[in-house]
Amino acid sequence: MKINNISDIKQVLSKSNKILVSTHTNPDGDAIGSSLALYHFLRGIGKEAYLIVPNLYPEFISWLPGNDDILVYERDRDKVKAALNQIDTIFCLDYNAINRSGIMQDVLKASEAVKIMIDHHPEPAKEDFDHLISTTEISSTSELLYDVLHALDPDFQITKDIASALYVGIMTDTGSFSFACNRPETFQVTAKLLETGIDGEWIHRKVYDTFSENRLRLLGYSLSDKLVVMSEYATAYIALSREDLRRFDYQVGDTEGLVNYALSVEGITMAVLLTERKGRIRLSFRSKGNFSVNDVARKHFNGGGHRNAAGGDSYDSLENTIAKLNSLIPTFKEELLKEIE
Ligand code: 5GP
Ligand code: MN
Repeated sequence: MKINNISDIKQVLSKSNKILVSTHTNPDGDAIGSSLALYHFLRGIGKEAYLIVPNLYPEFISWLPGNDDILVYERDRDKVKAALNQIDTIFCLDYNAINRSGIMQDVLKASEAVKIMIDHHPEPAKEDFDHLISTTEISSTSELLYDVLHALDPDFQITKDIASALYVGIMTDTGSFSFACNRPETFQVTAKLLETGIDGEWIHRKVYDTFSENRLRLLGYSLSDKLVVMSEYATAYIALSREDLRRFDYQVGDTEGLVNYALSVEGITMAVLLTERKGRIRLSFRSKGNFSVNDVARKHFNGGGHRNAAGGDSYDSLENTIAKLNSLIPTFKEELLKEIE
């Protein structure tokens, strides 16, 4: 992809020494993959770089090279505050508005550092950043970053550490190369990553084949006892209470991917996973075709995301949130059914 403002970013970088890389709350594979890749790149060109994420992320993305350098705001608050001192530049990766950095947002907002967003979500909050590299055409921030790094340095030789991180980001944001991957470029970039000698099959196993017994049983229980299929509205949902999660000793990441099973039912356009957390209900949306769950999450559940994958929160009870969802679904009937014609 041609990046129009690359010279502006080069100029910012040439004047920066102490740089912060940040990503969104509840980091996923693309968030961790893209920000670790940028972190390694910046260190490689001699910058003092820090990578700070708002909160803890799943074990299955905690093995990437450099993971131990990541500062987690909710865990390492003092170290983060020290690192933030005299930062020149803040990179914001895989998120499109400062408030998506969750508990870090006030600190980031207060910082006078130059803020550069690199992201693939729609409708960025432009006023939050000094420079934006934003497109919704590309599979993942990791794929976009591959182009950005080469635009910043045409002689850039990609290392195995950077390649593994970007591979995780592209693989997870495309559901193992099954969606958001119709552009040949996604596979061309992936091929370049594999040319560095990284083992894509091994990486896939590290991310997807490391279920605990409890996680697998939670999946089984969710599908057998909790899946609600509303064929007349082409919608399916799964709602898990705190009690359900406790029963299977829920760990961060254990419900990752669960919503996709609901979407895999034939004739389903929208799938929703509701999980009861402390003081809020987390909603995870997926859809097929033109039906925008980004709109649903934005308008009704304090969230957002992409057209076919979005998230949000409800501050009502689980019961009331399910009732709200049940009353909303019929209002989308026509659009939902259009996708399965
Ligand atoms: P997930 O369902 O996997 O948590 O999130 C799906 C997609 O929606 C991700 O791309 C994520 O960045 C985005 N997303 C999830 N939660 C939120 C939210 O609360 N607000 C916004 N704006 N985007 C979200
Ligand atoms: Mn992403």
